[in-house]
Amino acid sequence: MADRTSTDPNTPRLSAVAPCYNEEESITEFVRRLSAACKTCVSDSYEIVLVDDGSSDRTWEIISGLTLTDDHIVAIKLLRNHGHQLAASAGLSNARGQRVLLIDADLQDPPELLPQMMAVMDAGAEVVYGQRRTRAGESRLKLKTAEMFYQLLAKLSTVNIPKNTGDFRLMSRRVVDLLCSMPERQRFIRGMVAWVGGNQVAFAYDRDA
Ligand code: UDP
Ligand code: MG
Repeated sequence: MADRTSTDPNTPRLSAVAPCYNEEESITEFVRRLSAACKTCVSDSYEIVLVDDGSSDRTWEIISGLTLTDDHIVAIKLLRNHGHQLAASAGLSNARGQRVLLIDADLQDPPELLPQMMAVMDAGAEVVYGQRRTRAGESRLKLKTAEMFYQLLAKLSTVNIPKNTGDFRLMSRRVVDLLCSMPERQRFIRGMVAWVGGNQVAFAYDRDA
């Protein structure tokens, strides 16, 4: 099934969702770069959903300020720190777009890849997930523990969860609706998306430091 073709003219063609925890240093630049990428793809038909995950720095002040001058921005504040997966889930539940991009706010996932990811979805993918070719700035320990994590995951799970992925991905409305309808409280988004199935396509990229 293709994306939901909504008759509601207020439904944006694209939502970008970013969980934000103490991102005061990168958030303004992130929103600038992400906005430019969204405009390239869908002109003005987009929203950017920023979820402040109980930050203790100025993140909330900055993102709530952005909503005053930019109608594309939606800011959500969690009352305490719940962690990346729940913050992302809160954003996904509030995203209205026909397609939804999940992306980190610290600029490790380059927003400029969006047009290419949209093209893969135009060609029929339901999910376009980022797969890391390189991981700039990550220690040998982080690389080794990541590898061990994926080995253990493959042993424990009957679902084939692709290696070296994060949650950076573009999803169809159908997949997002399915994901949001799943009752799990301890959420592991990349695993749950893999569980949904459908045409899921890897998109190789170099992760920034
Ligand atoms: N993040 C969050 N809550 C947390 C920790 C992180 O919302 O408790 C956000 C963070 O702001 C970033 C994304 O989740 O946008 C990924 O976090 P991080 O960069 O720490 O993870 P890594 O790059 O190591 O995967
Ligand atoms: Mg990061």
